[in-house]
Amino acid sequence: MIHITLPDGAVRQYEEGISGLQIAQSISEGLARKVLAIKVNDEVWDLTRPIAKDAAIKLLTWDDQEGKATMWHSSAHLMAEAVEALYPGAKFGIGPDIEHGFYYDIDLGDRVISDEDFPLIEAKMKELASGAHAYKRKEVSKSDALQYFGNKGDEYKLELIQDLEDGQITFYESGHFVDLCRGPHLPDTSPIKAVKILSVAGAYWRGDEKRKMLTRLYGITFPKQKELDEYLVLLEEARKRDHRKLGRELELFTFSQMVGSGLPLWLPKGADLRERLELFLKKAQKKAGYYQVMTPHIGNVNLYKTSGHYQKYGQDSFRPISTPQEGEEFFLKPMNCPHHCEIYKAKPRSYKDLPLRLAEFGTVYRYEQSGELHGLTRVRGFTQDDAHIFCTPDQVKSEFVGVMDIVMKIFKALDFKDFLIQISLRDPNNKEKYIGSEENWEKSEQAIREVALEQGLNAEIVLGEAAFYGPKMDFMVKDALGRKWQLGTIQVDYNLPERFELEYVGADNEKHRPVMIHRAPFGSMERFVAVLIEHCAGKFPLWLVSEQAMILPVSDKYNDYAEKVLHLLENYDIRAAIDDRNEKVGKKIRDAELKRIPYMLVVGEKEENEGTVSVRRQGEGDQGSTSVEAFAQLVKDEISRMLAD
Ligand SMILES: [Zn+2]
Ligand SMILES: [Zn+2]
Repeated sequence: MIHITLPDGAVRQYEEGISGLQIAQSISEGLARKVLAIKVNDEVWDLTRPIAKDAAIKLLTWDDQEGKATMWHSSAHLMAEAVEALYPGAKFGIGPDIEHGFYYDIDLGDRVISDEDFPLIEAKMKELASGAHAYKRKEVSKSDALQYFGNKGDEYKLELIQDLEDGQITFYESGHFVDLCRGPHLPDTSPIKAVKILSVAGAYWRGDEKRKMLTRLYGITFPKQKELDEYLVLLEEARKRDHRKLGRELELFTFSQMVGSGLPLWLPKGADLRERLELFLKKAQKKAGYYQVMTPHIGNVNLYKTSGHYQKYGQDSFRPISTPQEGEEFFLKPMNCPHHCEIYKAKPRSYKDLPLRLAEFGTVYRYEQSGELHGLTRVRGFTQDDAHIFCTPDQVKSEFVGVMDIVMKIFKALDFKDFLIQISLRDPNNKEKYIGSEENWEKSEQAIREVALEQGLNAEIVLGEAAFYGPKMDFMVKDALGRKWQLGTIQVDYNLPERFELEYVGADNEKHRPVMIHRAPFGSMERFVAVLIEHCAGKFPLWLVSEQAMILPVSDKYNDYAEKVLHLLENYDIRAAIDDRNEKVGKKIRDAELKRIPYMLVVGEKEENEGTVSVRRQGEGDQGSTSVEAFAQLVKDEISRMLAD
């Protein structure tokens, strides 16, 4: 008999060789119908694979990301089988599951798959799935594996097998399709009920631009049609909110091939928005005792050798810049931290100087493959709302509290109501792989846990996820569509103070090492603005928009009155403009709506006579007429509610 520990800690006894499916059946028939895979000691297994030893297990269903992943990876095989049936002789690269669905890279020879072919592939997949074909796992020798794909003439699989070790190779067979695969998979194809091919794109074999371009086919599957329908509605909404689309429509940013891919150009309205975000944070930082600093965009190669970034970014990054005469080498800065360490070292520090908080909106450059670039979320140059706090080990906790205050202020002002916090700590069984003293780690891990608890924040603690140089806290926001985005981070660092030999003189007159805390509440301005656009669908909070109100005279007879309203609003620091084009007021309203201008103020004869404006709220229509002063007060109140501490 073996002992199986369930997630709730209960231990059950089973015959040796019991499978996940049998365990599920022993618990309930309902569970057996829903279960997709099993996690055995942190590894996801096929439900049919025998368990030989005592183990801790979790039965995975559609509610678990790993359950979904197993279904989607199995669906990738199913899609490949369908493609092979429809396009005989197709060759296959890799076909993994991804965050939402799966893809397969396929060499179709000179055939092409387009949107019109999707229904055919979907129908074939559904037909194959309904046959409930088992996914059969088979261990094969390297020579047998090479022989199989050699006979089939699939050079991509042959290349993958060459890199594998004999004795480690498994095949999965389902229906008429055999794949080189580590698994895990569903027991059979029957849970795959709803199928959608989402898109097709080109992808270089192994991401190498010098190699063949394959056809990458993306798909997604669900256990119920209803779930697929809901997903497609969400996808459509996400398309409408896509920051690349809205960024263009709202004239926030652009890209130019002449400037280079992955290098955003901020247009006046985007720059204005970004500056307002920066000012907001600068003000909060000033109040919290930060000092603003500025550092150059490049740094000597030795700076990054000292910091260790050369080893991390040097080889696979932008090439160094060399001076014509002196033979010096410079790198585009990938991080602001090394520069800030040198600012710390600019003069001797005493414990009385600590905590020292240095902040900079620092632009950094990191090489990304062109195929990986995506709007403002994956770029090659971006600005971090960076700061480094140098403090004593005893100050870590209060500094965390201070940073959290700023993060919460930001989330409130921008209406991110739903967020998650992840705390990454050491692997308690592997303490030797971390640098820094046991005492300091204890102190800071304890401090981070306490901060989360005291602030009443629902934080997930993940052991073993800390960087080798210190524990950290990450903030993930859920946007209006329920999508999770990683934004800000607070990271403790024992490494850079060592590497840069940072010191302060303590109350004991001895020299000590400070602790360094990296923090960026927005993360980067580019990524943050992208997430914000998608979260609010371009309808930015009133305090943030460049144009809070658009004054719309019903004809040019009222342009003078519109001017007068504008001046009054300016006295109240309200950002407004006049649409004095010779257009019907209906058209002016539509255009202002499209530009997501929060308030539209219609003025005509009645308004002029009464000294009022007719107020329309974006997306909500007519709000009635009011005096300019009362409107100004309304705007002020709305803003102070969002920005209140
Ligand atoms: Zn597979
Ligand atoms: Zn840093």
